Order: sequence, then C-alpha cells, then structure tokens
Amino acid sequence: MTRRFYSVVLAALLTILTMATGSALALPLASNVPGGIARVPLGTLLDYPDKPKAWLDGQSVWVAADDGHWVAVVGVPLDTPTGTKTLRVATNRGERSVSFPVVEKRYAEQHVRLKDSSKITLSPDDEKRALAEIERIQSLKKHWREIDDTDSNFIRPADGRLSSRFGLRRIFNGAPRAPHSGLDFAAPRGAPVITAASGRVLAMDDYFFNGKTVFVDHGNGLLSMYCHLDRIDVQPGDTLRKGQRLGLAGATGRASGPHLHWSVVLNGTMVDPELFLTQR
Ligand SMILES: [Zn+2]
Repeated sequence: MTRRFYSVVLAALLTILTMATGSALALPLASNVPGGIARVPLGTLLDYPDKPKAWLDGQSVWVAADDGHWVAVVGVPLDTPTGTKTLRVATNRGERSVSFPVVEKRYAEQHVRLKDSSKITLSPDDEKRALAEIERIQSLKKHWREIDDTDSNFIRPADGRLSSRFGLRRIFNGAPRAPHSGLDFAAPRGAPVITAASGRVLAMDDYFFNGKTVFVDHGNGLLSMYCHLDRIDVQPGDTLRKGQRLGLAGATGRASGPHLHWSVVLNGTMVDPELFLTQR
C-alpha cells in the first residue's frame, strides 16, 4: 500500500516534471525500419505507476519514461521483414501484446576488393575459431543490466569522416557478405577512441574478424562495441564516463586499413548507430 502510494506520487511528479521540461530524457531518433529503432508507447505514468516490462522475441526491451508516458525503445533486427512486430508487455494491470509497424528501407550496396584472401576463404582452423567467437559475441549482445538512467545521447567515438554506413550491403571479391553492422570512422592508427556515453566495460577480446574489441554496457540492453583497435586501455568491469578514452584506433582483425568500426546493440540486435548521434 505504502509502496504503491509512493509510486503514484512519483509518477505524478515525473509527469509534472516532464511537462515542465518537455522531456526528461533524450531518446534516440525513431525509425521503424529493419536495423532501426521503434518507439512504442505503453501508456501513461499515471495509469501504470510501476514501470512496465517489455520483451521482443523473448529478449528484454528498454522501457523509458518520456513526456509522462512509458515508451519501449526497441531495436529492430536488420533481417526483420516489413509488416508488424509484436511486443509482450507486463504491467501492474496484467500482460498484453502491443504491435508496431516495420516499413521497408533499401540500404546501399558496395563492392569491396580485399587482397588478403585468407580472411575471405577461411582455413578450417580459422573457421572454427571465428564461429566460436561469433557465438560468444551473440551471448554478449544479449547482456541485460537494468538501470534507471540509460544515457543514449551518444557522442562520436572518434574523429574522422564516416567511411561506411550501417546496413551497407557489401560484396567482397564478388561474394555477398552480411550487411555492415556498424558505422565506420576513417580514424588513423593511434587515434584516440572514446566511449560514446557513460557505461561499464562488459568485455574485451581480440577476435578473428573484429580484432581488438571493447564492449561497453550502457544499461537496459544498450551496448556499444569498438572494433579493430590497435590498443585497449580498459579492463572488464571498469566504469567509464562519457568521452573517456578506451583505446586507440587500428586495423586488427579483418580490416582493409586503419579505421574504427562502431556498433550499437539494443535488445540483443545491431541497430543504426547514427540514430543515437542525432537526437530529436
Ligand atoms: Zn565497419
């Protein structure tokens, strides 16, 4: 009874606060496309004093308070067919399904020539290693740590022009590969790489494809991933403030030259990092 009373008072205060300031949080730009982010309203804070819980395909989804409403901030997998997706939502009034539309996006196509064919046609040993690593990365992407205040107002993790965008359909030496799962910055070897927002270092490793890589956990299923680093300056468990250096850009792993490959993961899926650099 007491907890419920305080929840209602807190919800009312939050509503007043968000009405006064316009918005308590800057959320990433909504884009209901494969590889984008859907913002799905789940009801008002007054109707649902306890924060609702939401899942997409069994994976927990970030729920934020925005303008007096609960909003599910949902990463839409790049291989999602157009149509509707459905969230499972649990509130203090019970469980329900909430659907949202996914519309088509045609990403650009690019042909890439790589001289080092050993990184295209893998030896059995390399293939075994790469497959094991992909499985480890898949489980890291599903990491969930619930916190109150995820900062999704990202800053650029490196200087340099954008040399490859998210979703680009790449063809290496004539063979189609998985679409580009991140955003590339043309950073020279040794250039500082900083964390796009505050967070905690979830993991670091030296992978066959991604090279020296750092995973930063920003809470509520939002992670960022920094790849091909020349050097890593942090340890798993380290708490990072926004803009703190985590390493130096390089060309480790499969890279045609020095650059930073930066991926953003939301509810276990890679989404377009540029949506986090352009707040509404
Ligand atoms: Zn890349």
